[in-house]
Amino acid sequence: MSRFSGVLQLTDLDDFITPSQAKDGSYFQLEEDGTEQKLQKVEITLADCLACSGCITSAESVLITQQSQEELIRVFEDNKILKSQGKLQEAKLIIVSVSIQPILSLAIRYNLLPNDCAAKLVQYFKKLGADMVIDMTVADDFALLESQREFIRRYRATESDGIRNVLPMLASSCPGWVCYAEKTHGDYILPYISTTKSPQQIMGSLVKHWVGRNLGNRQIYHVTVMPCYDKKLEAAREDFFSEETQSRDVDCVITAIELEQMLQKDEISLDSLENSAFSQPWLLKEDHDVTPSLTRHIGSGSGGFADHIFRYAAKELFGEELEKLEYKSLRNPDFREVILIKEEKILLRFAIANGFRNIQNLVQKLKRGKSQYQYVEVMACPSGCLNGGAQVRPKEGSSVKELTTLLETLYNSLPCKSPEENKSVGELYDSWLGGQESDKCNAVLHTQYHAVEKAMNALNIKW
Ligand code: SF4
Repeated sequence: MSRFSGVLQLTDLDDFITPSQAKDGSYFQLEEDGTEQKLQKVEITLADCLACSGCITSAESVLITQQSQEELIRVFEDNKILKSQGKLQEAKLIIVSVSIQPILSLAIRYNLLPNDCAAKLVQYFKKLGADMVIDMTVADDFALLESQREFIRRYRATESDGIRNVLPMLASSCPGWVCYAEKTHGDYILPYISTTKSPQQIMGSLVKHWVGRNLGNRQIYHVTVMPCYDKKLEAAREDFFSEETQSRDVDCVITAIELEQMLQKDEISLDSLENSAFSQPWLLKEDHDVTPSLTRHIGSGSGGFADHIFRYAAKELFGEELEKLEYKSLRNPDFREVILIKEEKILLRFAIANGFRNIQNLVQKLKRGKSQYQYVEVMACPSGCLNGGAQVRPKEGSSVKELTTLLETLYNSLPCKSPEENKSVGELYDSWLGGQESDKCNAVLHTQYHAVEKAMNALNIKW
């Protein structure tokens, strides 16, 4: 960290503060003579958070009380009491949606196969009092399909109408990145960010609106299981508060590391639990319950956005069916690009930028008009979501790098499935959204961003 004309400049942005750096919850300044001085606590509100995977994402997570394990347990307990008193109409329908990265993180922690880990997590949540546990792949698929089409719309708008500020399209599924863009680069960068909601928030709309309506308008408490604390900030955004249900689309986000703590507190080893099935409430006519059979998307472990959109665009715009994509690492392995060349002309140039160091470089290039990309999968965590800030920590003697490699290997061992193959998504487009590209589709699956005035950055930190 160095000083520049009265403001602080953070230079090593990938090094977030972990709880292990604090002694007894306190931080100390090391003086030149070797003595330590306990630092005063600083009050930081959510409005000050840059979602840099630093403060809120580790030691200060307790600030988000509505998003805590304690709140989750309280809701489960209250619901059990209501049910035991026969007040079924007052009891909430508790639905838990689980994403792939925390499943893999816990699978490694408890030495389980991914599908067994998912099935045992279902059983754990059912024991706590969940009414349904759902695999979030359906929302991942919606996000990819919407992003693909959004890219084509933006590309054509640039080509035919010469509309500026629509390319490159920047990924929107990482709240760490979105929050940083809103608070530091405001109106300049926001038009480039894809309006497609993240999978978590698409799941929120699906659960609160479609499932709620089709299961007798019950009051739903929706929990998501995610790889980072930044997803709590995303769930808490005003844009995701519904006037209709008078609630947020995601009420509580629980991370892999918090789940590990909950299991430890309950003295439960995940591997000792029975297997249980995921629910698929949109399968109204058939059996709702399905044994976990996890799949992955081709491309990165952060959802494969760059890969999918690249392939789709190559086919849709240039009639090219592509096999395996070859990415080239540029400055570092966390900045990779892929290009489509025909007759010595570059038709498409996409990139994946992980970690704040690469994000900063990308933003500076964009501001100088030097970016050559049409799409960038931007993710705040180095190595992306598999290495999310709230995944289970490495075992003693093992490094984050080794654990990330393990997670990537496990992810790549899952069978691949394309979003177009998901029949449920096709049916939901019709039954829920009135078809692809409909007005309802745009209203439900897309969102907006808001530039935050610089004055609100209470710490006066320069990024
Ligand atoms: S890269 Fe993924 S895990 Fe990390 S902050 Fe973004 S969404 Fe969360």
